[in-house]
Amino acid sequence: MTEEIAPRDAYARTMDSVVTGITEQGVVLDRTVFYSRGGGQPGDTGTLRWDGGQVAVTDTYRVSGTPVHVVEGTPPPVGTEVSGEIDWDRRHLLMRTHTALHVLSAIIWRDFDAKVTGGNMEPGTARMDFELDAISVEFGQEVEARLNDELVKDHQIQVLFLPRDEALSDPDLIRTKVNLLPPSIDPIRVIQIGTIDKQADGGTHVRSTGEVGLVRVVKTESKGKGNKRMRIAL
Ligand SMILES: [Zn+2]
Repeated sequence: MTEEIAPRDAYARTMDSVVTGITEQGVVLDRTVFYSRGGGQPGDTGTLRWDGGQVAVTDTYRVSGTPVHVVEGTPPPVGTEVSGEIDWDRRHLLMRTHTALHVLSAIIWRDFDAKVTGGNMEPGTARMDFELDAISVEFGQEVEARLNDELVKDHQIQVLFLPRDEALSDPDLIRTKVNLLPPSIDPIRVIQIGTIDKQADGGTHVRSTGEVGLVRVVKTESKGKGNKRMRIAL
């Protein structure tokens, strides 16, 4: 089992750890600050250093549940003590982007009764699809204004670990289909953004919405009946 630091401390950038496995895909460590791609958020990149060497980490993802660090070059052998550092500028931009998406989804739900059907993000840009009947440039501008109105209110963001029973009976979490999470997941990690949003989520987020900065809606497009896409940029 790898101890994962990011779910509890999104601001941790470095760690000391020990190589516990080398697989075809990469390096397994006893503990890590690297975020494994998931929930639309890309995996972290960075560097692993040890006495006598270093490699770049180009991606992090799960193989059978275990975080694997994909490296460029010869990995350190099992048992090596390494220090790891994530590419913080990229990760922090992803945290801002991820939080912006949660606020966007909350506004579309609160003001337009539409659920999210999908989404994806890159550092500083993202797309999200909604169960909307129609979308227009003007609608995008209206949403952009409402989104920035909420972001500047500097809502505080909390990471909660709720007992499964409690999460399943929380009316604020029903819209995000928390009941579909595998029964083995208990407690359930929840990201709460002030009073405006609460979602079961594995990703990394900033501490408050003021840290996101201003967001633009750069494109609106139809992806079919009841499926409309919005692209944002920070
Ligand atoms: Zn999320």
